[in-house]
Amino acid sequence: MMQEINKENLLKTLSRVEDPDFKKDLVSLKMIDDIEVEPGKISFTVVLTTMACPLKDKIKQDCVEAIKQDWGNDYNINISFDSRITSNRKEAKDMLPNVKNIIAVASGKGGVGKSTIAVNLAISMAKTGAKVGLIDADIYGPSIPLMMGLKGKRPKVQKIEDKHYILPIEQYGVKCLSIGFLIDEKQAVVWRGPMVSSALKQFVTDCIWGDLDYLILDLPPGTGDIHLTLVQTIPVTGAVIVTTPQEVAIADARKAIGMFQMPNINVPIIGIAENMSYFTPAELPDKKYYLFGKDGGRKTAEEYEVPFLGQIPIEEKLCEAGDQGKPSVLYGNEIVRKSFINLAANAERFIAIRNASLSATKAVEINQ
Ligand code: ADP
Repeated sequence: MMQEINKENLLKTLSRVEDPDFKKDLVSLKMIDDIEVEPGKISFTVVLTTMACPLKDKIKQDCVEAIKQDWGNDYNINISFDSRITSNRKEAKDMLPNVKNIIAVASGKGGVGKSTIAVNLAISMAKTGAKVGLIDADIYGPSIPLMMGLKGKRPKVQKIEDKHYILPIEQYGVKCLSIGFLIDEKQAVVWRGPMVSSALKQFVTDCIWGDLDYLILDLPPGTGDIHLTLVQTIPVTGAVIVTTPQEVAIADARKAIGMFQMPNINVPIIGIAENMSYFTPAELPDKKYYLFGKDGGRKTAEEYEVPFLGQIPIEEKLCEAGDQGKPSVLYGNEIVRKSFINLAANAERFIAIRNASLSATKAVEINQ
């Protein structure tokens, strides 16, 4: 006689379903929760690493197939999804223990859209339900206040036990902090390296961030001392490298990858984001014009065997929108909005894979 279905043997069935990213079964990954079995009805929750997981449908279909194989077609199967964003910062006792992931957004070259990507990535992640913070570490050209529609705003300060803490300013669901909130832009350009690093360290330690799933750092362009000091002081989970498809930008992106991958730095590359990939005129929605060359970022990702996070098209109004504090993922056309959502979903996915496969992040010790 056929066995009755219960919680235990349902788990056995589901242990044949693999998460395609982690190459392990859902049960040993502890992704199955809230199982309920009633006559003719099975329901459970699959706990993903991000609600934006692009493999959701595949996982659901594989679960249904496995259940049908073992238990036939007579059950009404109800699968819901939840997310638990992972962290790899177990050793982060002192610096931001409540922040699960610190992600640096970097580019070798200026003007490739690093800040644009940082802003839209942060907002897209927040849209999927994640708790997100954004630090404008581009101290020499802070553009976050402008892009987030916060120009001229000043953060509040809170005193706790005789110490003053800065409160980030929340906009579009993201907690933001920029040197541009605190000082005149013209002042920052004359700052020397050590002043910049100590300002950034303060942003991290003397600011009330609360619980965050992702803290995005918009780094200055280039591969200089500031970057080295930054990874020395802040335990970064990984870096997103932004480039355009042009050869000059790619050459500098290679330098940035090389810097993060140096044996004594060893910051994992979450992936490459390719900006200004192509142009699609509104009247020709099926056409893609590759004005700056084709697939430069994608090919670089293949070459370095790092993930490719996606392409962002050139948008006529993006420049304008950025300058008016209206980020494209919220105000842009559909193609641009979708490309940012896709980029963020891939970033979240590869952060989770990184957390599952690599050891915990530490501030880097550099022997000079
Ligand atoms: P970076 O941080 O690398 O210096 P920014 O994000 O400040 O670059 O972008 C430089 C300029 O290019 C900004 O005016 C921005 O609005 C514009 N820009 C960025 N990405 C795009 C895009 N995909 N389409 C059109 N304009 C863009």
